[in-house]
Formats: sequence, C-alpha cells, structure tokens
Amino acid sequence: MGIEEKAPAGFLLTTIEKVAGWSRSRSQWPVTMGLACCAIEMMAAGTPRFDMARFGLEVFRASPRHADLMIVSGRVSHKMAPVVRNIYDQMPEPKWVISMGVCASSGGMFNNYAVVQGVDHIVPVDIYLPGCPPRPEMLINSILALREQVQNSPLGVNREEAARKAEEAALAA
Ligand code: SF4
Repeated sequence: MGIEEKAPAGFLLTTIEKVAGWSRSRSQWPVTMGLACCAIEMMAAGTPRFDMARFGLEVFRASPRHADLMIVSGRVSHKMAPVVRNIYDQMPEPKWVISMGVCASSGGMFNNYAVVQGVDHIVPVDIYLPGCPPRPEMLINSILALREQVQNSPLGVNREEAARKAEEAALAA
C-alpha cells in the first residue's frame, strides 16, 4: 500500500524542520533582563492576571545560555549597551529580540547623550513594540506575532550572519 493510501488512516507527513520550528515557537525562554519602567509591564505579563505561561513563556531564564528570546524592556543607556550586547552574545543560536517600548526602539523621549537611540544599533531586532509603556497584552501579542518568524526559521542558519551577508550583497549591488 502506498503512503498516500495510508495517510487517511492516521499517518502525518512533515519534516524535522517544521517540527523543530513548531516546538521552538511554542516554548520560548526569555532571558531575565529589565532595563527601565517597561520591565514592570514585562513582569506583569508573567503574573497570573495576564498569564503568559499560556503560551509556553513563563520560564524567564537566569542565564542567557539557556535563553532564546531577549525582551529589551526600556531605554538602553550607553553604559548598559555593552552589557546588553554581551548578554545577547552569550545566548545560543537561534535567538530572537523584541524591542519593547518606544525608548528601546528609538530612544523615545530620551533624545540625549546618555541613551542609545534604538537598541538595533547594538543587537538585531525582530519585533518593534510601540507604546510607553506597552501593556502586558501588547507584549503577549508581539510574542504571538514573533511565533510566525520562529516557526518559519530554517534549521542550522545563523540569522545574524545571514542578515549581514544580505546587507553586504545589497550594498555591493
Ligand atoms: Fe519607560 Fe515609557 Fe521608555 Fe518604557 S517607553 S522605558 S515606560 S519611558
């Protein structure tokens, strides 16, 4: 009997890549990191009222080596910038970044010498979440939007390296 005939009897056809993408997207582990007032809303998202555990995210990891999601929750001062990059570098691939709030995304109201004008000067950002501060529901919504990217990420690709090469190719063209 051919596989096509067996399928209606309960066989499921898929690829390792699809299974890995689905699993990763539903069990993300954010690194424990708060930078400013947005972090209060991020912490609230983990409480029973908002219950981000529903989406497989309750485990904020104390070590970046166990995490695959960085939520940049608040403005990034120039003093903190090397620390943020250091934490990012310690996270294993594949990894994703959410820039939470207007300050993390663009410096926001802190247009001054002390604050980095967008965390994407330091780490690659996958989702920019607007607001001052974004509410916990908005953070959860951005995590659900990120799921699509996580689920469709190819296996074995260093995303930062691939993005850098694409940028170089675009500049050379
Ligand atoms: Fe604070 Fe608003 Fe900036 Fe978030 S966006 S760090 S709440 S000032």
